[in-house]
Amino acid sequence: MAFTLDKSAAAFSAAKQHIPGGVNSPVRSFRGVGGTPPFIAAAQGSRLHDIDGNQYIDYVGSWGPMILGHAHPAVTEALREAVGRGTSYGAPTLLETELAELVKAAVPSIDLVRFVNSGTEATMSVLRLARAFTGRSKIVKFAGCYHGHHDSLLVKAGSGATTLGIPDSPGVPEGIAATTLTAAYNDIAGLADIFHRHGEDIAAVIIEPVPGNMGLVLPRDGYLQAVRDLTAKYESLLIFDEVMSGFRVAYGGAQAAFGITPDLTCLGKVIGGGLPVGAYGGRRDIMEYIAPAGPVYQAGTLSGNPLAMTAGITTLKAIGVPGYYDRLSEKTAVLCAGVKAQAEKFGFELQHHQIGSMFGLFFTAEPVYDYDSAKRSDVGAFNTYFHAMLAQGVYLAPSQFEAAFMSSAHSDDDIAVTIAASAAAFAKVADY
Ligand code: PMP
Repeated sequence: MAFTLDKSAAAFSAAKQHIPGGVNSPVRSFRGVGGTPPFIAAAQGSRLHDIDGNQYIDYVGSWGPMILGHAHPAVTEALREAVGRGTSYGAPTLLETELAELVKAAVPSIDLVRFVNSGTEATMSVLRLARAFTGRSKIVKFAGCYHGHHDSLLVKAGSGATTLGIPDSPGVPEGIAATTLTAAYNDIAGLADIFHRHGEDIAAVIIEPVPGNMGLVLPRDGYLQAVRDLTAKYESLLIFDEVMSGFRVAYGGAQAAFGITPDLTCLGKVIGGGLPVGAYGGRRDIMEYIAPAGPVYQAGTLSGNPLAMTAGITTLKAIGVPGYYDRLSEKTAVLCAGVKAQAEKFGFELQHHQIGSMFGLFFTAEPVYDYDSAKRSDVGAFNTYFHAMLAQGVYLAPSQFEAAFMSSAHSDDDIAVTIAASAAAFAKVADY
């Protein structure tokens, strides 16, 4: 049967009558790649099912959270039980302490952790905390990193902001944007220069230790340690935004994988097991500035929500078993090697990146190590590849500037099908 998205196209038109651009988060609109986004009816394991009756092997995983695959039986069962006990109390629960303990055991740099509802909230709150703690106002971020959509960090932002060509959004007050300095990722001399000029005003450096929002970019040897050393030298705080890399590149996140201890860490995605959760945590002396322990205000009606905590606890327990990450990484390596072999058969020299179960490829023959080098990719070639994969039932993020995620629900057969689909997709790119 031919691949069609007729029902999704009608649903998309209808949605546009009610919701800006028809979606509640911009990249879902397929603005970068063009065409119609499949409207999803259900998901199970490694598969997404759309309202047109198509099914896809899913490498988006809700943009990272679904490390166990969709509708994992343990998570679904735990949620079913939890929902009968009420969905929100606005009062403390044992669940919050349990998830906090799991997070701390995995990420030893965290002494205290505060749960919020999204990654955006986590990074927004952590900047306020860093400013209050240091008494300084400036923040350094890296071009192409994305930390959510609040004003301080919507500057040279990656992810959808880059895909849509609006890395600096209108509506961010100039005064706020002026407190955000930007550096190039992987360029320690550039960061040193910023510290040389502004060091005494810099409250914090916030970094995706493994950026996944300009496509997947990897840190050069020694780079993260050099960032750690510079921040320490100037008594600025180092914030690792591990919303994407946390519990993904390793159980303990990128800080475990690279052996770096940040002062503060932001988490999200996997820790919510597919429900809305973000978190920030770190050194006790800093975190005790947060109300009601300290004066920095931050709150949330639904923060620590019992369903969200339940999904997070169940997920972390399931992925915390010995060998889980090794198996996931091996599977991802098999897929990446297979795709690379197919690309080479067609004479394409591309950049294939992988760490743990995060992976991606850039349509460029030149090395990609930062935002500018990522942007040299051939977006038209990516878009052709993307649509060819989609039509064959493989669902990738609809942008050159996003990472892909493997789950433990993906089977060897899924991987073989994906590699075969890649061969056909590269053939289409060769014609493009
Ligand atoms: N930080 C990083 C590294 C992210 O990848 C994202 C979202 N992709 C965010 C923060 C924002 O998280 P949320 O979309 O939950 O607000």
